[in-house]
Amino acid sequence: MTVTPVHPAEATTGPEIELRSRITVELVDHAASDIGVVRAARVSTAGERAHREERGDDYIGGLIRYLMRSRHGSPFEHNYMTFLVNAPIFTIRHMMRHRTWSFNEESARYKDLESVFYVPDSDRLLKQEGKPGHYQYVPGTEEDHELVTTSASTAYRAAFREYQRMLDAGIARELARTVLPVATYSTVYATCNARSLMHFLSLRTNRADATYVSHPQREVEIVAEQMESEFARLMPLTHAAYESYGRVSP
Ligand SMILES: Cc1cc2nc3c(=O)[nH]c(=O)nc-3n(C[C@H](O)[C@H](O)[C@H](O)COP(=O)(O)OP(=O)(O)OC[C@H]3O[C@@H](n4cnc5c(N)ncnc54)[C@H](O)[C@@H]3O)c2cc1C
Repeated sequence: MTVTPVHPAEATTGPEIELRSRITVELVDHAASDIGVVRAARVSTAGERAHREERGDDYIGGLIRYLMRSRHGSPFEHNYMTFLVNAPIFTIRHMMRHRTWSFNEESARYKDLESVFYVPDSDRLLKQEGKPGHYQYVPGTEEDHELVTTSASTAYRAAFREYQRMLDAGIARELARTVLPVATYSTVYATCNARSLMHFLSLRTNRADATYVSHPQREVEIVAEQMESEFARLMPLTHAAYESYGRVSP
């Protein structure tokens, strides 16, 4: 959505900004399959033949479950999935903590950033109660949502105005960008293998049935959920085994 100025002082001077709640993940490339896991594992006993073996789902599923259960993780590394993610910088920062992934991100040194900023949508739980590590999230009122949108858009508009002011004066992009908030949208290419994706999912989704329950921020969980549905589609037997053994990466 595009918002009109909300703060009286900004009414005539604020630049146009876009407030966005949508976080998107697109699978742009992959080489990932359940049979690939089996072939990688089978090389230990079948040697060269492993690469040409055809196997039915019962065999593939059984071997994958065995590998998952006994935490033989390396056969799950011979594949890749590349995702194009459009998300606020604070969410991309969460993603980038995962060191076994490869990333390439839009550069704020080499291009002007667009005036697109994150605001939570009306379903996002707004209030936290309790201690760090044990927070409960509860819905906000309509007024709370209005406050978040108003405060955020006032700050974003002021930040973007100063960013533009510096760019217009010829200040280098790498310095002008320092005033922009972590809610600014960015785009990243992110590539992982199934083993590193399972580790990411175990930490970045909140599932009560997991062996180790994690409490990620909702925005990175939205990224993880979209990645998980692609993973389940490409590698259904691996995904099923991951679910059966408590969502622990092997
Ligand atoms: C709910 C939640 C809250 C968090 N809060 C904070 C916070 O307050 N502050 C903060 O700084 N971070 C925080 N993090 C990030 C967290 O500490 C990890 O950096 C992030 O989850 C990546 O996980 P990882 O290190 O296991 O895995 P990855 O980087 O994805 O690596 C995968 C695995 O490879 C191995 N590995 C990778 N690098 C090394 C290495 N150098 N040495 C040994 N083994 C290695 C480990 O086995 C690791 O589990 C939080 C994460 C979550 C999910």
